[in-house]
Amino acid sequence: MNLQTDIDLQPYNTLAVPARGAYYAEVTEREQLPELLRFARDEALPLLVLGGGSNIVLERDFPGLVLHIRLTGKTLLTEDRHHYWLKVAAGENWHELVQFTLEHGYWGLENLSLIPGSVGAAPIQNIGAYGVELKDVFERLEAVDVASGELVEFNADECAFGYRDSLFKRGGRDRYIIVSVTLRLLRQPHLKVTYPSLREALQSIPVEALTPKDVGRAVCTVRQSKLPDPMTIPNVGSFFKNPLVGLDQFMELQMRHPGLVSYPIDARHVKLAAGWLIERAGWKGVQRGSVAVHSEQALVLTNPGRASGAEVLALAEEIRHSIAAEYGVDLEAEPRVYP
Ligand code: FAD
Ligand code: NAP
Repeated sequence: MNLQTDIDLQPYNTLAVPARGAYYAEVTEREQLPELLRFARDEALPLLVLGGGSNIVLERDFPGLVLHIRLTGKTLLTEDRHHYWLKVAAGENWHELVQFTLEHGYWGLENLSLIPGSVGAAPIQNIGAYGVELKDVFERLEAVDVASGELVEFNADECAFGYRDSLFKRGGRDRYIIVSVTLRLLRQPHLKVTYPSLREALQSIPVEALTPKDVGRAVCTVRQSKLPDPMTIPNVGSFFKNPLVGLDQFMELQMRHPGLVSYPIDARHVKLAAGWLIERAGWKGVQRGSVAVHSEQALVLTNPGRASGAEVLALAEEIRHSIAAEYGVDLEAEPRVYP
């Protein structure tokens, strides 16, 4: 089974919080999973399915079994006049996959360049950036059912993708280990450059000459200019989801805060930019011990001093209370917290 015990998890979470895992196994073959799952069940151990560790907060030592998903491989399953279907193992690095697709002329992932983490984690929160979400290119996934050890498949409807959300954050939470994701990519580019920062970064290229590679490069440039690199400044990206509010609450908030940054979602809901709310409430650059609100983007909490998960969560809680008091809006943490 290749089990390790009492392992240091600090190198395996991009927030770099100090924590230890009671048991740890690297999963390089899907066939290892049934035995590992039986062991966890027999010993009544909780599971932590780990990819790149870029969207988790470990509040303390983890008393169970950490399954580090390291499955690799990419297969072009089939193609037609419009699409390529690419099956990718869950342990592949997401950004390396994006680069691979851009090199091969499989279009659609360019806006999702430079998102840290693994392919297997991408469906968990339906990763998204610059107006594109995983669900836009998703065909299906394969997962191992934790209870039975059996392989099961999910199509897009069954994944119930939402805004930074899916079945795997709700009813399916902790019930499945994703082992592969099949993407449906385009032969002809369909570029999406609606975000102002992206448009600005691309303004020197005439629209008709733009290529997916240009967009991918611009996304990387913009991200590198405002997001801290977790390798040097530990963080988990956006700490809070952008809240969706009803129209009545939105109109009332807009009257009180005329500069409110918002985007319509559907006829009844509006998305508020959580970063704007946090910045306006005075949190940008604030430091508590060695945890800080990033000075370029208030939605990101950084942990340069490698403080504990509990310290990071304490600052997040202070911010949450402050936003609820100031705007009556409830912020929800985006990363998964392991208490
Ligand atoms: P982990 O942190 O390892 O795991 C996250 C959750 O998924 C955990 O609950 C874990 O159990 C579960 N999980 C992981 N792998 C599997 C699997 N194979 N099967 C079942 N469950 C699994 N996110 C965005 O959506 N858009 C962004 O633009 C974005 N930018 C970011 C920028 C920075 C600097 C950072 C640090 C993070 C950013 N994120 C972003 C968040 C994060 O990168 C994504 O959520 C990513 O998909 C997490 O991948 P991971 O492999 O690191 O997941
Ligand atoms: P930004 O471009 O400065 O935009 C600020 C906020 O406004 C974002 O939250 C974005 O929502 C929203 N927004 C901007 N233009 C929009 C448009 N045309 N239509 C709808 N919504 C719009 O944001 P940023 O911080 O630099 O991040 C850029 C992109 O990378 C965003 O999509 C963001 O979600 C993503 N990102 C995510 C994480 C993470 O950890 N989840 C971390 C870093 C960056 P959305 O967030 O809904 O797109």
